[in-house]
Amino acid sequence: MSLCMQCGRELTYNEIGAHKKFINRGSKSFLCKSCLAEKLGVTVPDIDRKIQQFIQQGCTLFSAGNVIPGPAVSPGRTPSGQGEGPK
Ligand SMILES: [Zn+2]
Repeated sequence: MSLCMQCGRELTYNEIGAHKKFINRGSKSFLCKSCLAEKLGVTVPDIDRKIQQFIQQGCTLFSAGNVIPGPAVSPGRTPSGQGEGPK
């Protein structure tokens, strides 16, 4: 398990993926979402949104099973349009 090189927080798979995606694919040490957002001058929700986009694109740096639960990932309602049956 990796820790954030700035604040020492435990990193999730997607945070490591985000660091690789936004900073450097070859990095050996990583930033958590908060530190990454600060470094990039964006907000943490911005990072989350980007991670969701990469997951939808099928990027292997990210895992859909390891994200914070939220409206965007609720079961039965996928952004791809599946499961949108009549009520
Ligand atoms: Zn951090």
